[in-house]
Amino acid sequence: MSTFDSDYKFETYEEFYGDIQQVQQLIDACQICGSRLMINHLTDYTNLLVQESAICPECGNKNRKKVHVLN
Ligand SMILES: [Zn+2]
Repeated sequence: MSTFDSDYKFETYEEFYGDIQQVQQLIDACQICGSRLMINHLTDYTNLLVQESAICPECGNKNRKKVHVLN
């Protein structure tokens, strides 16, 4: 885990709540301006992790980063 920035966090389903549209909006939309986010995935095959980052093309918000564990 030491290869990732400390502000990365593991995805937990507990943080998603509400109906599917609310969840989808939480995933895809900028929480500041509501624009669709550009999401990048970097796969780390050595550690079997996917590092996800999202940036808003409108306001530059990029506060969402997650690490997925590949199973
Ligand atoms: Zn934005």
